[in-house]
Amino acid sequence: MSEDETLFERIIAGEIPADVVYQDDTTFAFRDIRPQAKVHVLVVPKKRYRNLGELAAGDPQLLADVALTARKVAELEGVLESGYRVVFNTDSDAGQTVFHVHAHVLGGEPLGLFGA
Ligand code: C5P
Repeated sequence: MSEDETLFERIIAGEIPADVVYQDDTTFAFRDIRPQAKVHVLVVPKKRYRNLGELAAGDPQLLADVALTARKVAELEGVLESGYRVVFNTDSDAGQTVFHVHAHVLGGEPLGLFGA
């Protein structure tokens, strides 16, 4: 792995196995290895940005692609009607551990309120 290659770049390249849910030209979606809800899928833009803000500033269309893939994942996972949550952790207090922006798509059960 090159010094600045992220774990998610290795997953996208097929070098690390993942349970892939969906992919298209610009985005890649796979199940989180430590699910926090019945449905827990990560949506990653194939081009790397560090976090949500950098993605939005650098490539707003790609951010829209991530949002549309999150909706596609919800549809494929059968939670489009029941609802789902999309979370982007940014830096340490939020618990970001992989510095290649990713949306957590969570659902399949009532998720409760933040801070509860
Ligand atoms: O937002 P954060 O950076 O913490 O999210 C990283 C996520 O990547 C974690 O939820 C972790 O479980 C997941 N992960 C994974 N497969 C790996 C390593 C981490 O799904 N091989």
